[in-house]
Amino acid sequence: MRGEMNEEMNKESIFIVRCGEVALKGMNKPYFERMLVERIRKLLKKFDGISVKRQEGLIFVRADKRLDKQAIIKEISKVFGVASISPAVECESTMEAIGEAAVAYMLETIEERGVRTFKVEAKRADKNFPVKSPDIGRQIGAVVLKGCKVLKVDVHHPDCLLFVDVRHDRSYIYQDKIAGFGGLPLGTNGKGLSLLSGGIDSPVATWMMAKRGMMIEAVHFHSYPYTSQRAQEKVEELAGIVATYCGRFKMHVVNLLPIQEQIVENCPEEETTILVRRFMMRIAQKIAQNTGCGMLITGENLGQVASQTAESLMVTDASVTMPVMRPLIAMDKVDIMDKAQEIGTYETSIQPYEDCCTVFLPKHPVTKPKLERILASEAKLDCDALIEAAVCAAEVIDIFPV
Ligand code: ATP
Ligand code: MG
Repeated sequence: MRGEMNEEMNKESIFIVRCGEVALKGMNKPYFERMLVERIRKLLKKFDGISVKRQEGLIFVRADKRLDKQAIIKEISKVFGVASISPAVECESTMEAIGEAAVAYMLETIEERGVRTFKVEAKRADKNFPVKSPDIGRQIGAVVLKGCKVLKVDVHHPDCLLFVDVRHDRSYIYQDKIAGFGGLPLGTNGKGLSLLSGGIDSPVATWMMAKRGMMIEAVHFHSYPYTSQRAQEKVEELAGIVATYCGRFKMHVVNLLPIQEQIVENCPEEETTILVRRFMMRIAQKIAQNTGCGMLITGENLGQVASQTAESLMVTDASVTMPVMRPLIAMDKVDIMDKAQEIGTYETSIQPYEDCCTVFLPKHPVTKPKLERILASEAKLDCDALIEAAVCAAEVIDIFPV
């Protein structure tokens, strides 16, 4: 009878989703949780027969048993704000029901994973439940030992840590806590315009800001025909990977060649890169202002190249008034590369295609530019008109998750 009841309750796959920092947001907590549920629903839309509900500080995802569990977990783990996910089984909140469910669960686990030792970790969210947590652990442990003859208890290094979470009228049993990325739900922290190149850094920088809840729009600069169509496709591909986390977004594509030609013709060669960078920033700022983005995002990293020395960054920063977010500023390259691997952009980033920054690359770029000298060089150009023309000629493309 009880077994049938448990079976009836578990005709769907159940996933417990824990919110990370979202739980710390005090008065705003319901808002953050709502946003998180919305994001999870959106990402799981592609599956039929899924429900997502908030309940007692957790999020419960219930899915048709026939759906691929791993695929569902993979999608949920991409949602920013998710701390961890546990595939669980559900039962009534009575010691008898929990015991039976735990035995059935462990028999399956023995078969699937060959575990031989276990330990029960019980938690009582419902303080009215008559048995205290340590006693729940002991009693359920004893029932499991009786029901699964091959198992032994090991309190120090168990093969399986069996979690029992006793809640108001339902309890949950699980063993895995699959880590999410944490962060905050998308849409809870404004919108930023990311300067997205085909390199390793800027996709990671974009991802990191999106992880803190920032909506993304992007701008990419090229120097066609010096840079190829294929180089742009590579950037679109990278953007598509980033979009699997932050949803579809718009990418503005700007040809920088007319500006680069003016710089090469009129300004000192060693200043080319820093001058180009200042133009990029100003064009980006204009686009940001036109599209409701409150800040710029770059993949700059202190000291990585001539244009990213402290002095260069100060001169670059002086070109705009908008805040510039540089989430990678203090990271080491190896750590950025690891992150790129983890989020899935690395393999695309390392494909060797030319970038507009490498066109007209000076032999000896200034590493300690002086703002007054850079301004003097810019005075030889009609900056406003060049920027305006570049913004007007920008193409906008829709980036969809790949
Ligand atoms: P990345 O790996 O992101 O290309 P990088 O180490 O090559 O970075 P730079 O080429 O100096 O560094 O660029 C620094 C930042 O400027 C990039 O992270 C990116 O935000 C922006 N940027 C560079 N090139 C482009 C481009 N073609 N289009 C848009 N943004 C760019
Ligand atoms: Mg680059």
